[in-house]
Amino acid sequence: MKIFDNIQDFIEYEKGLKGSIGFVPTMGALHNGHLSLIQNSINDNDITIVSIFINPTQFLEGEDLDKYPKRLEADKKICSLAGVDALFIPNTDEIYSKIEPTILAPSQKAYILEGYKRPGHFDGVLRVVLKLLNIVSPTRAYFGKKDAQQLYLIKNMVSSLFLHVEIVACEIVRENDGLALSSRNIYLNQDERQRALKISKSLKIASKAMMKNEFNSQNLKRLMKESIDDLEIEYIEVVDRNFDKIDNIELNNSIILVAAKVGSTRLIDNIWV
Ligand code: AMP
Repeated sequence: MKIFDNIQDFIEYEKGLKGSIGFVPTMGALHNGHLSLIQNSINDNDITIVSIFINPTQFLEGEDLDKYPKRLEADKKICSLAGVDALFIPNTDEIYSKIEPTILAPSQKAYILEGYKRPGHFDGVLRVVLKLLNIVSPTRAYFGKKDAQQLYLIKNMVSSLFLHVEIVACEIVRENDGLALSSRNIYLNQDERQRALKISKSLKIASKAMMKNEFNSQNLKRLMKESIDDLEIEYIEVVDRNFDKIDNIELNNSIILVAAKVGSTRLIDNIWV
C-alpha cells in the first residue's frame, strides 16, 4: 500500500493509474463501519483510495477537534490488510489556503437537525469533500448512511455542481447489541456505553410499531422519546429522503433520525424505512 502526505505526490501517483477508482474519505480512527465502505469500494473498483483528514472547518468552537481520536499506525495496518491501494493523509495547511472561494451548504437543509445544533458544520463538510473529490477524481465515492444528512447534502452537491462521481451509500454497521459504530464511541465509559444502547433500541421500537401499522410520525416520535427519556435528546425526527419533515412514514422514502448526548458524547443514529 502506498502512503501519501503530500498532494502533488499523490496526484503524480494517480496519473499512472488505470481503471476505476473507488474513494473512501474518513477522519481516521477506523472501525468496521469504515471497513465496510472500503470493502464495498474494493468490490466495485480496480483501485481503492482511502483518505484520513480531520477536517477543522467542520468542527465548531468548543467541539472535540483537538481531542478527536487519532490512531494513525493502527489505521495504516487496517487499510493495508484490507487491500487498500493508497492511503492519502493530507495536511491542513495544504488543503486550505488563507484566501479561497468557499462553498456554503444550502441553508434550508444544512441548518436543520445536525446543522441546527452545529451551524456551519455542513459548510465545512462540503468544503472538504469537494476539495478531496477534486484531488482524487474518483469514479465512485463511498459514504455511510449513518451520517444520513451529510450523505444527502453530498449527493445534492454532486448533482447540482455536475461533479463526475458516483456517490455510493453504504449500510450502517452496528455492534452485536445494536450500537452503531462510531469513532466517538471510544469516549464512552462502561456505564455510558450501556446507556447509549437506548438510542438504537428506540429505533427498534419504532420499527416494531411500524410492523403493527403505526406510521404516524408524532406517535413514533413519542414512543421513541419515552424509551430514551433519561438521555439528553437533541432531536428525534422523521424525514423523507430529501430531508423534508413528514407527518406519516412513506415506505421506502423515509428516515427516522435520533441525536442524543450520553454524558458529554454526542451520538447519532437512524433507520431508513
Ligand atoms: P468519519 O471518519 O466519521 O468521518 O466517517 C467516514 C465515513 O464512514 C462516513 O461516510 C461515515 O458515514 C461512515 N461511517 C461512520 N460510521 C459508520 C457506520 N457505523 N456504518 C457505516 N458507515 C459509517
